[in-house]
Amino acid sequence: QDARSAGPGQVRLFRPEGQPLQTRLQLARDLHAAVRDQDFILHYQPQIMLRTGAICGVEALLRWTHPQFGNVPPASFIPLAEEQGLMCAIGRNTLAMACTQAARWQQAGYPPFRMAVNLSPAEFYSDSLVEDVAAILRDAGLEPHWLELEITEAMPLDDLGSAIRIMRELKQLGVSLAVDDFGTGWSSLSYLRHFPLDRLKIDRSFTRDVTRAADAAAITRTVIGLSGNLDVACMAEGIESVEQLDWLRDQGCTEGQGYLISRPMAADAITRLLDLQAARPPVAGGKLLLPG
Ligand code: C2E
Ligand code: MG
Ligand code: MG
Ligand code: MG
Repeated sequence: QDARSAGPGQVRLFRPEGQPLQTRLQLARDLHAAVRDQDFILHYQPQIMLRTGAICGVEALLRWTHPQFGNVPPASFIPLAEEQGLMCAIGRNTLAMACTQAARWQQAGYPPFRMAVNLSPAEFYSDSLVEDVAAILRDAGLEPHWLELEITEAMPLDDLGSAIRIMRELKQLGVSLAVDDFGTGWSSLSYLRHFPLDRLKIDRSFTRDVTRAADAAAITRTVIGLSGNLDVACMAEGIESVEQLDWLRDQGCTEGQGYLISRPMAADAITRLLDLQAARPPVAGGKLLLPG
């Protein structure tokens, strides 16, 4: 089960689900040590304007390399961290790393772009969220409007009133708000009127099927229209093919991210991409900026 046995250059993910209890308990213990030692790093996935290929933002994605098991995917260790009461500590550290990196790119003179950071339910509902975000932005020297917080639609919304209040307080700080995995969760449109949102992110499960399933295409078209009517931006997640990208752009979706454009990458690889973009600005007419 050692990830290194996958051979050089190969990334194999370690899936704790389905592992013996012993292993999962060890993983929970190791997670505490990882938090203590700040063993997490961030990768960044570029987000582009679909018409020009220009980078409009990056999404920060957590990475944890376990000393023995190798890369454990966030979808596996984040629920474990929530269970262990570690997610707020991890989240604060993530936000600080992401904001510091965003400020660093700006200070280096690159054209500024948004930094999107995912918020877990535990963080969203934590009492000190708003002050913590404010303090992190101040320490990093990042203007609030460059930070976007992504709230997944899978987040439990047991109390609409407090969710609205938290979002309004975040907006007052000046950060922007996106609904992640849109179309998979709350499945009620009424909250959209009350939430101060800036962006809907169409879930990957729809993007995957837009060119081959009528229902996914219909839902996606509706979401794009909805975002226009609500005057919020619309971003497609998980774009993997040129056909998907062309379809989304033709339907009026303005922004996107996905493996076709770029995988999530370490900060220095993003810096190289920014250098490339500076040397050869993206051409209008849908010419894509592909790394490497
Ligand atoms: P998400 O926020 O919806 O992030 C997008 C996920 O889709 C990422 O997986 C990304 O690597 C992957 N992805 C991007 N483009 C493509 C594509 O074209 N095809 C496919 N198949 N996948 C693509 P990742 O990094 O494994 O993260 C999974 C989830 O874990 C995230 O989903 C997010 O919900 C959560 N997560 C990641 N980092 C953080 C974090 O710092 N804090 C919190 N609270 N959650 C995080
Ligand atoms: Mg996200
Ligand atoms: Mg998502
Ligand atoms: Mg998703």
